[in-house]
Amino acid sequence: MAGRVAVVVVVLLTAIAIWQTRGTGPDLSRVAVVRSPAGVMGTTCTLVAVVPAGREAMAQRGLEAAERELREVDALMSTYLESSELSAINRAAAGEVVPVSTQLRSVLRFSREVWQASNGAFDATCRPMIDLWRRAGRAGRLPLDDDIAAARSRSSWEDFEQLAGGVRKGRQSARLDLGGVAKGYGIDRAFDVLSAAGCDGVLVDVGGDVRVGGCDARGERWMITVRDPFGDRRLTDFALDAGAVCTSGNYERYVEIGGVRYSHIIDPRTGHPVDRLPSVTVLAADAVTADAWATALGVLGAEGLGLLPPSVEALIVEGDENSCRIHADEAMEQRLGTLPAPPCEVDR
Ligand code: ADP
Ligand code: MG
Repeated sequence: MAGRVAVVVVVLLTAIAIWQTRGTGPDLSRVAVVRSPAGVMGTTCTLVAVVPAGREAMAQRGLEAAERELREVDALMSTYLESSELSAINRAAAGEVVPVSTQLRSVLRFSREVWQASNGAFDATCRPMIDLWRRAGRAGRLPLDDDIAAARSRSSWEDFEQLAGGVRKGRQSARLDLGGVAKGYGIDRAFDVLSAAGCDGVLVDVGGDVRVGGCDARGERWMITVRDPFGDRRLTDFALDAGAVCTSGNYERYVEIGGVRYSHIIDPRTGHPVDRLPSVTVLAADAVTADAWATALGVLGAEGLGLLPPSVEALIVEGDENSCRIHADEAMEQRLGTLPAPPCEVDR
């Protein structure tokens, strides 16, 4: 682990990844066609197709197909929709085989892999704990230790079996939640569809998690800005021609009990919401990887940097407005080269 923690910076800022374009340039041979559909995965969404001038209709068709793809992934994997395949698994009785799409099958397989690789920090079977803390938030009362222990014991990967015909649970109580990974998967599906439409450049942004490929309208690489979630300040930015950047851990979603905010990310090892939730920005080749690892590092903090798969990079900000520490793995440190000027202090 220690070898990979290359940068520790003390600063007032934390990170959210956003993308930016660089204004109008002299090259008018390409145009960026933008679509911002509402109500996609319960958050903001911006889809950009960069095409040669005159090919806007082609871009529009690609953008519509990409939006459909995102909505389909949500329809399969949302726990908010009773009609989703995921909800059908959660409702199922022990021994019942629930038919599932190849998309859900692939996300389940991937989620289980990240569970193993993250030493259990990323655990898509932790739904009973998520439910418990949401109920506690609504009731305004902290759950009892016994309730937490019971929620922890209700569901685990051992309870799920992937068969040719679908998914079978060993126990009725087992439940899944793909909130930490489905958005990334949807971004990848939308990205693939847009790329296949023949665009020179593609950007898919869902709730600030992005995947880019090719070039922007000026023919240059996309600019990714890592932003301060306590305000609108920029922490740093970098150019990217291909890859995904996902952020986890900002206090946008939480429950409040007795005036205290509890994170929506649960530490499966304790059954409690993550304490002192770090803000984590992960860069990977695809968004499903970046999304899952951003959630995993939200649980593990900088201790988890050593578990990252090869070519996955991360920037972690721990602490609060008054005292923050920024950690990055070596590759991210090199990429950022120009970390913000003082008040940051680099501590190696
Ligand atoms: P966001 O949706 O804000 O981008 P994340 O990608 O970090 O945030 O996902 C958080 C969601 O992941 C939670 O709302 C919950 O549905 C799910 N989740 C919470 N804790 C875990 C965990 N330890 N492992 C896997 N999924 C989790
Ligand atoms: Mg995530």
